[in-house]
Amino acid sequence: MGLKTFLAHLMDDDSSHPGEQARGESETTSSHPVVGFSHPAVGALAKVLRALGEGAFEMDEDLTSKYLDLAEQAESGEASVMSRLPAKVLEQRKAERTWVTRNIRELADTIVGLLTRLGRNASLDRESDRAMEGQVERLRGAVKHESLAEIRREVLGAAETLTVVMKERDERQRKEMTAISRELENLKTELSHARKEMAVDPLTRLFNRSSFDEHAKTCLALATLAGRESCLLMVDIDLFKKVNDTYGHQAGDLVLKAVSGELVKSFPRKSDFVARYGGEEFAVVLSEDGEKVGRMLAERFLERLRQSKTVWEGSEIQVTASVGVAELCPGQTVQEWIAVSDQRLYEAKKSGRNRLVGSSGPG
Ligand code: GH3
Ligand code: MG
Ligand code: MG
Repeated sequence: MGLKTFLAHLMDDDSSHPGEQARGESETTSSHPVVGFSHPAVGALAKVLRALGEGAFEMDEDLTSKYLDLAEQAESGEASVMSRLPAKVLEQRKAERTWVTRNIRELADTIVGLLTRLGRNASLDRESDRAMEGQVERLRGAVKHESLAEIRREVLGAAETLTVVMKERDERQRKEMTAISRELENLKTELSHARKEMAVDPLTRLFNRSSFDEHAKTCLALATLAGRESCLLMVDIDLFKKVNDTYGHQAGDLVLKAVSGELVKSFPRKSDFVARYGGEEFAVVLSEDGEKVGRMLAERFLERLRQSKTVWEGSEIQVTASVGVAELCPGQTVQEWIAVSDQRLYEAKKSGRNRLVGSSGPG
């Protein structure tokens, strides 16, 4: 609907305020009517003022009731009132404009603050950093000039830049996360490798002394709980010093490896635990067998060792070993268990070496 048609329509429509007619008639006789208050223009003006009131911004002050007051004043048709109306309406419009401008500025300031903080906090790369800074500067300029159109344009521009920057950052973070998880995976593998290495003696690749201590403790705990038999063999190479003295330390190392190999072959079951206890001494824990089986397996090992030889620089080196066999007794500590098998090993040495000693003496 065009403005002209709209006004004509308003002027024709007298029915919306039926009170006007009655009041208008009684006030034609009033002293200074500017326009007859029954004049359709007065009705239209009142309608416009009411419409302004109904659609007013929800400002700090109550503009709606102010416009409605103005509409009533218009309808009263007083010349003094009518002459003040334009100034009043202008005043309200100014108040509205100030309010809207202030609100948009506050909004823009908030956006500038937000973008500045984002730019500061996010570890953006230099290029996106510069793009953000430029955008924030332009936005600041636009806010200073109070040009709403400019502020709008720059806010939209900033939002676009921010979207791009966030997307780039997301992508970068995703890549970084992938790299970090890959590194973590490597670290995990390295750690588990290191843990395995920590449990193993580097020369013989058998379990080392600390693994043995741990295993013996666990074995004792399980044996106590489940009433299971366990047997410990302390194995010591006979006259090993002589091997070193005759062939050298390297040859001695080779013999140590060979004896370790024979031990592993002699005690291959999952429940067998073979460790280098120290120097040329080894410990074997049989966690599911008593002394009888322990003696039998130890004897098999000794025989195997008697049959084997290590070749070093054209020489054949042969060694034997002595073994102390001890079954775990109820209530024993690990130290006591070791002490008993050590004592039997000592007896085996004393009684001629190349043999085993159990609870009932040499086997
Ligand atoms: P016994 O039958 O009484 O056990 O005599 P033995 O010579 O085996 O015992 P002794 O304790 O006199 O000597 C042990 C030797 O083992 C001394 C030491 O140098 C040697 N030894 C210990 N660890 C290693 C090692 O890692 N490599 C080499 N090559 N020799 C070692
Ligand atoms: Mg020895
Ligand atoms: Mg020894």
